[in-house]
Amino acid sequence: MIPADATYSILGAARSGLAVARLLRSEGARVFVSDAKPLDASADAVAMLEEIGAEYEFGGHTDRVLESDLLVLSPGVPDTIPIVRRCAERGMKITNEIEIAWRRCRAPIVAITGTNGKTTTTELAGHIFRGAGRRTFVAGNIGIPFSDVAAQADAESVVVLEVSSFQLEHVETFRPRVAVILNVTPDHLDRYAGFDEYREAKFRIAMNQGDGDTLIYNADDPALASLPGRSAARTLGFSIKRELPDGAWLRDGLLLIRGAAPGTSNSEQVLMRADEIRIRGPHNLYNSMAAALSARTLALNEESVRDGLRTFAGVPHRLEPVRELDGIRWVNDSKATNVNSLWYALSSFAEPIVLIAGGKSKKNDYAEVLPLIAGRVKAVVLMGDAADEMETAFAPVTEVHRAGYSIERAVEIARSLALPGDVVLLSPACASFDMFNNYEHRGDVFKQIVRDLTPASEHQGVH
Ligand code: ADP
Repeated sequence: MIPADATYSILGAARSGLAVARLLRSEGARVFVSDAKPLDASADAVAMLEEIGAEYEFGGHTDRVLESDLLVLSPGVPDTIPIVRRCAERGMKITNEIEIAWRRCRAPIVAITGTNGKTTTTELAGHIFRGAGRRTFVAGNIGIPFSDVAAQADAESVVVLEVSSFQLEHVETFRPRVAVILNVTPDHLDRYAGFDEYREAKFRIAMNQGDGDTLIYNADDPALASLPGRSAARTLGFSIKRELPDGAWLRDGLLLIRGAAPGTSNSEQVLMRADEIRIRGPHNLYNSMAAALSARTLALNEESVRDGLRTFAGVPHRLEPVRELDGIRWVNDSKATNVNSLWYALSSFAEPIVLIAGGKSKKNDYAEVLPLIAGRVKAVVLMGDAADEMETAFAPVTEVHRAGYSIERAVEIARSLALPGDVVLLSPACASFDMFNNYEHRGDVFKQIVRDLTPASEHQGVH
């Protein structure tokens, strides 16, 4: 139990830290926010904190942090930094924004995690619930902090929550009605001691689930094989490879589900033809199955689920079509910041691919994509810090070109290599911070350059 008069120190004044400060202040709690960023770079945060009457410090963490009952950690703050250790030594309870918001939320929660596909699946599930007329809040890692919506969501609404492994690290009682684990593949190994520790963080999404709850998981992912045995909730799998006793799978191009909706335990239902789903690629079949099972679990009818899957157009920067020019399709997959998402991007096209990749590597291992690079990629154009390591990996199996630190140059080279019928795909498999502010910035710049290209016909006669 947390006493009503508890005091809070919040580490990190980014979106979620500020939102939880707002929530706690609205209840009259004493709140102290501490951020390492300098004061002069934090004018908006300061104005907000002043307005709500929170105490704060910028430019570092002083001992004032130690003077509260609880420490609220932001997802970007690792718990290994000295101030967090000192709070722990002092016996302060360490918690986070998701845990605090969840305790104030009366709506059923569909919580979605995984290495890849979280945003797509969260938006898709939100789209299905909204389309069915349910009052829907889409929140979490995705943009609007959970703390901003938790108190507004009543028992008739639904909260679809994207949660990252960082956000799960310090939850204690968080118990979503529906938990989804899409996949777990190596990522963020710069932050976790190893793959098992990263995977355990993801499993925390389901650790408090029990009677009346449902865990939906990818039955094709070997890293998740132990999940059903460990869960106290009902489990539903999804697979694109085999039929399952309960969950979702494919047969003869049809998407089938069984056991998700209340009272339908033994009957298999044909939900729709898989090719009616608007978002493409095998990974999006997984995302669609996970969203469909979530919606059916919370008693939406099949028609609503079908409509949602037929109409959801996808999320920008995830295999986003940019344009077709001179018979060449240009695709922006800037959100592909790890090797596994590159794997799915390459699996999503039958056409020959000219791949633009590179950026800031996260200790990448490219072995899993080499067969696809060899089979489908006619040339790779590399940019950014990772170009050397990627050239070493890819040069034995395909043609490699280098664009230095210029995405303009990368587009120019790719255009010179692509023929009508090809796809030029930006799917970097790396973070963007060596050249851009973030992946959205990288994708936006790419799209602008591509939209500014002039058709070959307009070049004719110009010398
Ligand atoms: P996240 O929010 O987990 O980062 P996104 O939906 O933003 O996931 O997608 C990130 C990248 O991963 C994109 O390149 C996208 O095409 C790819 N992707 C989407 N869903 C999956 C999936 N289920 N498995 C693997 N890759 C996926």
